[in-house]
Amino acid sequence: MADVIERTQTKAPVPKPGFLQAAALHLLTRAAVIETAVDLSPHFRSITLAGRALQGIAWAPGQKLQIQMRGLTFRTYTPILWDAVAGRTQVVAYRHGEGRGAAWAAAAEAGDPVLLFGPRRSLDFAGLERPALFIGDETSIGPAAALLETAQGADEMRFLFEATSAAESAAVLGKLGVHGAEIVERQAGDGHYAALEAMAVAAFEADRQQSVVLTGKAATIQRLSRALKARGAVSGQLKTKAYWAPGKQGLD
Ligand SMILES: Cc1cc2nc3c(=O)[nH]c(=O)nc-3n(C[C@H](O)[C@H](O)[C@H](O)COP(=O)(O)OP(=O)(O)OC[C@H]3O[C@@H](n4cnc5c(N)ncnc54)[C@H](O)[C@@H]3O)c2cc1C
Repeated sequence: MADVIERTQTKAPVPKPGFLQAAALHLLTRAAVIETAVDLSPHFRSITLAGRALQGIAWAPGQKLQIQMRGLTFRTYTPILWDAVAGRTQVVAYRHGEGRGAAWAAAAEAGDPVLLFGPRRSLDFAGLERPALFIGDETSIGPAAALLETAQGADEMRFLFEATSAAESAAVLGKLGVHGAEIVERQAGDGHYAALEAMAVAAFEADRQQSVVLTGKAATIQRLSRALKARGAVSGQLKTKAYWAPGKQGLD
């Protein structure tokens, strides 16, 4: 699949799929339709996807789903649930700007057709040793909701986020059933990093966390991983996955 998904880090124009690529897409993707698309807040949209091709799928919380935007361009989202009997899944998209994913989420309407690649392995939330600390940003709010679908739900979980608007993210987390999250609001020049790092270290040490999930902005993950390792976290305890980095498109 790697060669049929556009490597969007380049500035090259998006090629239209040729015959072979179209055939590969047909074989590798699942067809679905948007069942509902609902604003959870000004920047978050909940999108439900349904179709017979989504029936009978063995989904595990933490897996990713790549959604076709146009041609060979895909963007990655995290299913927050999967009803394998009905053939239905749901993602929560953060509309951060004018990228294809953000535009797709903004324009999504019931009845729109979509092509999906996955679900595929990304992070394994079911196998997470607890107590566990989950750290992320707006793009990690869907994944935090997916964690609630594990057998242990929110038991022995602690959530910490960086966000442009703490109030907006808190409201969306609440709507998705993720309660008690701590949120540090972003500041110009990453001035909030010291506070975020201090809170991550304090949370890690307070509950003797067995594992720490770090998702969201690549630079934040790097910085917090270093800080936690300096406080005794070993690599096996840290489950990291960068979801985006400034200037990179469709990072995955
Ligand atoms: C495994 C995985 C799971 C993911 N799950 C989710 C999910 O459930 N929900 C969700 O909303 N996102 C999720 N993401 C992140 C999402 O795929 C990216 O944010 C993606 O870049 C969005 O595509 P876009 O077309 O809007 O922006 P792009 O065209 O990819 O990027 C355009 C510009 O915006 C910047 N950018 C991208 N994301 C952000 C951001 N969050 N804040 C500020 N600037 C940004 C880019 O660096 C680039 O400069 C996931 C990513 C991965 C790898």
